[in-house]
Amino acid sequence: MQWILATGNKGKLREFREAFGPELKGVDEVLPSVPDIEENADSFAGNALIKARAIYEALGPDFLVISDDSGISVPLLGGAPGIYSARYAGEEADDRQNLNKLIDELKARGVARTPAFYTAAVAAVGALGEYVVHGWMHGEVIDEARGEKGFGYDPIFIPEGYDRTLGELEEEVKATLSHRSRAIELIRPVLELLRRREAQ
Ligand code: IMP
Repeated sequence: MQWILATGNKGKLREFREAFGPELKGVDEVLPSVPDIEENADSFAGNALIKARAIYEALGPDFLVISDDSGISVPLLGGAPGIYSARYAGEEADDRQNLNKLIDELKARGVARTPAFYTAAVAAVGALGEYVVHGWMHGEVIDEARGEKGFGYDPIFIPEGYDRTLGELEEEVKATLSHRSRAIELIRPVLELLRRREAQ
């Protein structure tokens, strides 16, 4: 059974390969044209499953498709941007515009610092069924960008127990704390079980 990661994002593929080995392939390595997938569920898990199902349907039962969906939620803002994190400042918005919109929302409320958390849902879809797990990273967001490391909202996110943003902290720190690495650790035994079941 070939494992596929349902993303064309090189950074995500690198992170998942570190966990599951170089035999994990990106979807564009096995599908000449990747279907355009509308992520219209109302949860991270729902969107991760939509992506994995669509690629599994295109590839067939010899494949196990893994996907992830993630974002940041700010309780003060009613959970926004949440599942809309990648398009908070508009459909075509880039990471910096999304981050600036979040800063603007905090400033508009006169808030310099408030609790926030990242969520990652990782789904696996294959002949033996559908599975989904979650990982979280809690902390706070601040109203100014600090540091250049990471991506997305990292320059304004201070993880619990630290006093610097993920833009400032060493990448290894994020690797041990991150929502995605926690979700990856939780999906790992599921995938290992599926591999053993498949071999029986
Ligand atoms: P996805 O690629 O559909 O999962 O979208 C994730 C979006 O959430 C990204 O565009 C980022 O804005 C945000 N995001 C998710 N994980 C992280 C992270 O680890 N750091 C910073 N931003 C993140």
